[in-house]
This record gives sequence, C-alpha cells and structure tokens, in this order.
Amino acid sequence: MHDAIVIGAGPAGITASLYLARSACSVLLFEQMTPGGQILMTDILENYPGHPKGIKGYELSDLFLAHLDGLAVERVSGTVESVSGAAGNFVARSDGNDYAGKTMLVCTGARHRNLGLENETKLVGRGVSYCALCDGNFFRGQTVAVVGGGNSALEEALYLSKIADKVYLIHRRDSFRGAKTYLERLEKASDKVSILHDTVISSLHGETALTGLTLKNVHSGKERHLSVDGLFVYVGFTPMTDCLPENLVRDSHGFITTDTEMRTNIPGIFAAGDIRSKLCRQVITASGDGATAAQAAFVFLEQLHV
Ligand code: NAP
Repeated sequence: MHDAIVIGAGPAGITASLYLARSACSVLLFEQMTPGGQILMTDILENYPGHPKGIKGYELSDLFLAHLDGLAVERVSGTVESVSGAAGNFVARSDGNDYAGKTMLVCTGARHRNLGLENETKLVGRGVSYCALCDGNFFRGQTVAVVGGGNSALEEALYLSKIADKVYLIHRRDSFRGAKTYLERLEKASDKVSILHDTVISSLHGETALTGLTLKNVHSGKERHLSVDGLFVYVGFTPMTDCLPENLVRDSHGFITTDTEMRTNIPGIFAAGDIRSKLCRQVITASGDGATAAQAAFVFLEQLHV
C-alpha cells in the first residue's frame, strides 16, 4: 500500500512524485513508455523560465527525472488499465497485477488527434507523421506540409523549415491560435515556408507512400492538388482517460474537471497536467498542477489518518 499512486511520468507526474516524496509519502509512479511525456517530442522549449536561450526537450526531461534520484519513488513501467476502489484503498491494475494506493494522482496527459481521413492510418510511417522531431529527418531536402494552427503546428513548421526544402503550413482559418512570435518567424522564412489559410485537407494520396494532398478552400470550395513527401499533423490532443472510472467528471471535450487544488469529484483522486480541463497547457503549468496536486493529496492523507 503506497500513500500515492501517480499515473503518468510527464512533467505533472514527475513533479507530483517529487513533492510527495519530499513530504515523506511513499509513491508509486507509473510510466507508460519513456518517462518525460510530450517534452520528448519537442525540439526546443523557448518559454521555460530560467532557460533564456531555450532548452532541448530531452535535456529538460533528463533534468526532471534526475530530480527523483534518491527519493522514495518506486517506478513501474507499464500501462494502467483500470482504476477502482475508494479513498484509502484505490487499486490500479496493470499487466495482470494490482497496485494499491491511498490516493491516486492522474497525470496521464493527452494523445495527438488525427485528421480522420480515409487512408491516414495506412500512411502513418509512410509520409504521415505526428512527430516532427522523431521523423523530420526522413524528409531532409524534401517537401512537407504541416496542418494545424496552434503552437504545436507553428513550432514544428519552424523546426521542419530547417530540414526540409519546402514547408506548407495548412490552416483551416485565417488567424492562428499559436503564439505571434512563431508566426512572425515563419513569415520571415517565406522563401521556404508558404502559409495556406482557410484551407483543409480533403484527401491524402499514395498507396505505399504519401505522394500528395487534395486541398480545399473553405470559402470557395475550390480544390487543388499539392504534391508533398510528408505530412505532419498537429490538430490538437485528446485526453487519455481510458483507464479512469466512468463517474469521474469530465468536460465536454473529455478533459477531467478539477477545482483549484486539483481535486476531482471523487475524494482521493487528483488530476494534474494536460489531462485537466484548463486554459493553458504548458510544461510549466503541468508542473504547477503536479505540485498543487501533491500538496492537496498530502493534506488529504493527513485527514485520512485522523
Ligand atoms: P491546439 O492549440 O488545440 O490547436 C489545434 C489546432 O488544430 C487549431 O488551430 C485547430 O484549428 C486545428 N484543428 C483542429 N482540428 C482540426 C481538423 N480536423 N482539421 C484541421 N485543423 C484542425 O493544439 P496544439 O497546438 O497541439 O497545442 C495543445 C496545447 O499545448 C495548447 O494549449 C498549446 O498552447 C500548448 N503548446 C504550447 C507550446 C508552447 O508554448 N511552446 C507548444 C506546443 C503546444 P482552430 O484554430 O480553427 O480551432
């Protein structure tokens, strides 16, 4: 029986584990794959305070993990399939084993969304990608498209402009929700980057590898063909809540609703990071959530013991 089970080893889960362990709580931290979460898919973080020149995603992740060294955090590699029980005795089931914890901290984050186009799944790894950092190098000197209008799409289009010969940034509206600073830099790189506003991708072409896209103007309905070697999809994220109890309250997009102390509607279950219904999804806010969730869980544990 651990004081806390933390599900997810991204910035929220690592920070929560760190704070709980420093408060002398025993912690079991589940990591599904490589710990670090989405930072590992990020080339460079330019807005993480204390690193004015930016810091590589993998470097920050290594530093986060190093912070757990020597602390009472038991790390388990595996996927949590279900969570059951109640405060004082929650059970996380993973790979046929049950793990018991008095409190549960859900820091599972979110997975990328896809476009839902007909042969999208078939072309993954054959031109269609969701990670420029992982796959960008395959397109050195080639032509790629990035779809989306948020920070991910803008950042990754910038990253790809240093590798590919030509980058098309495709967005369904005429204004972007991503930061202006990225947009300005993309506009400055107009020799390599073309921005296509008010445009959606209506189909993907290619049997064994992606060869091109059909683009449609959302106003005129006019379609045209664009030849590309790669397509990077950045159209947002879906919360990873599959393993969680159905009666855990979520918002209309499926993100978990909490109060300001990261408490969910189920006593003893806290949520932190990108999984949470909130305005801002950044490494720094995920860490902040993790710290708050840990402190709230600590207070909860104290009350459980009286
Ligand atoms: P996001 O902010 O949710 O943006 C998703 C984009 O995809 C939107 O522009 C949306 O268009 C577009 N989109 C959604 N569905 C689409 C579809 N079916 N077809 C075409 N376009 C579609 O997602 P994100 O950029 O991945 O960012 C997620 C969170 O992480 C955000 O909070 C973001 O600020 C944060 N983040 C921050 C940084 C940073 O600060 N450095 C970097 C990466 C991510 P509309 O605009 O029309 O809705």
